[in-house]
Amino acid sequence: MKTLIIGAGGVGNVVAHKVAQNADIFGEIMLASRNENKCRAIAADVKAATGVTLLTASVDADNVPQTVELLREFKPDLLINVALPYQDLPLMDACLHAGVHYIDTANYEPPNCAHFEYSWQWAYRERFEKAGLTAILGSGFDPGVTNVFCAYAQKHLFDSIETIDILDANAGDHGYAFATNFNPEINIREITQNGRYWQEGQWVTTGPLEIRQEYDYPVIGEKSSYLLYHEELESLCKNIRGLKRIRFFMTFSDKYLTHLNVLKNVGMTRIDPIDFQGQKIVPIQFLKAILPDPATLGPRTKGKTCIGCEITGTKDGKKRKVFIYNVCDHQECYREVKSQAISYTTGVPAMIGAAMIATGRWTRPGVWNMEENDPDAFMDMLNKNGLPWQIKELPVD
Ligand code: NDP
Repeated sequence: MKTLIIGAGGVGNVVAHKVAQNADIFGEIMLASRNENKCRAIAADVKAATGVTLLTASVDADNVPQTVELLREFKPDLLINVALPYQDLPLMDACLHAGVHYIDTANYEPPNCAHFEYSWQWAYRERFEKAGLTAILGSGFDPGVTNVFCAYAQKHLFDSIETIDILDANAGDHGYAFATNFNPEINIREITQNGRYWQEGQWVTTGPLEIRQEYDYPVIGEKSSYLLYHEELESLCKNIRGLKRIRFFMTFSDKYLTHLNVLKNVGMTRIDPIDFQGQKIVPIQFLKAILPDPATLGPRTKGKTCIGCEITGTKDGKKRKVFIYNVCDHQECYREVKSQAISYTTGVPAMIGAAMIATGRWTRPGVWNMEENDPDAFMDMLNKNGLPWQIKELPVD
C-alpha cells in the first residue's frame, strides 16, 4: 500500500500525523504540495511524534500532467486531496490517468465564481466506474462526519427521518481581532453567500446570515447560530429517505461578524481582479495574505468545538429527536498534532475515509458521497482516533 497526501496546510498537517499513526493501513506515505518546504517541516514533526518517515515532493496540483508524472513515479494506491477545492477536478483527472483512488474534504468551486456544488464532481461518476476506481467526496467533519452521522441515524436510530439540522459551533478563542480557522479565502467566500436550505423538495434562499437562532450546545452552552448553505445539504436531501427538511447552522461571534461586515462593505472580500499600482490583484487573496495563517493558530486557540446533527423522525411508531455530536478541545488537538480543532476535526475524518478505501470497506467503482457508504466502521474509527461521538436523546416537541 502507498498513500499520497496533497496539500500541506492546516488540514494537511493533521492528515499527515494521523496517516502516520495508522501506517499499518497506509503503507508508504508521501506528502506533496506546491511548497515542498512546508511538507518537509510537517514530515520532521511527524517523524518526531510517530517515528514514521514521510517522503515529500513539490507539485502544482492545477497542472494535470505534472501530477500524473508524480503519480506514475510514486505509484500510490490512493490520493488524499487536502489542497483547496479549486484542485478537486484536476486531481480527479490525474487519478483517472494514473489509476489511483481519490478522496477529498470539500467540493469543487471555480476560482472566479463563489459557487460550490457537486454537479461538477458527480459528472465524473461514469469515468470512475469504467476505470474501476473509487472517489469519495467530502470526508472532513462537515461535510463528512455529519453525513456519516445521518447515515448512522438512518441505519440504527430511526425508521424514518423527517428533519435534520446540522449544527456547527466553535467556542474557541485565538485572541486575534479577526482570523479564520481554515483557509480564509475559501471560508469567507462560503460565509458571504446567500443562505439556502431544503424543505419539501424545494430550495429556500435567504440573505447571507439572515436567519439566526440560539442553540444550547452540549458542554459549550448557548450560542448564536446562523443559517448557511453548506454542501452536504445537496447530497443528504437526495440520500436520506423520506426527509422533509434539512438546514445548516454555524456559530459566529459578534466580533467576527462586525469585522466581516466591514471587510465586505469596503470591498476587501471581492473575488474579481482589480488594478493596483499597475498590476491586477484579487482583494480577497490580498486579505488572505495579511490575515493570520490558520495553520499557526494552534498554540493560541483555547476552548472547544461542538458539531453534530439534530435529527427528528420516528422509531417503532413513536416520535424521536436526537443530537449526535462530537466535542473537541483545541488545546488537546495542539498537544497531539500541533493544530487547532478545526483542522483536527477535518483531518481525522479525511484519514478515516481514506482508511475505508485502503481497507476495501468503501472501495466501489464510482463517485460517492459519504452517506452512501456503510457508516459503522467509520463511526468506530472516530471513537478510536480522537473524535469520540455521543448521542443525546432530546424531548420531542
Ligand atoms: P490551507 O490554505 O491551510 O492549505 C492548503 C494547502 O494546499 C497549502 O499547503 C497550499 O500550498 C496547498 N495548495 C494550494 N494550491 C495548490 C496547488 N495548486 N498545488 C498543490 N498544492 C496546493 O487550507 P486548509 O488546510 O485550512 O484547508 C484544506 C482543505 O480542507 C480546503 O479544501 C478546505 O475547504 C477543506 N476544509 C474542509 C472542512 C470540512 O469539514 N469538510 C473544514 C475545513 C477545511 P501553498 O502553501 O504552497 O499555497
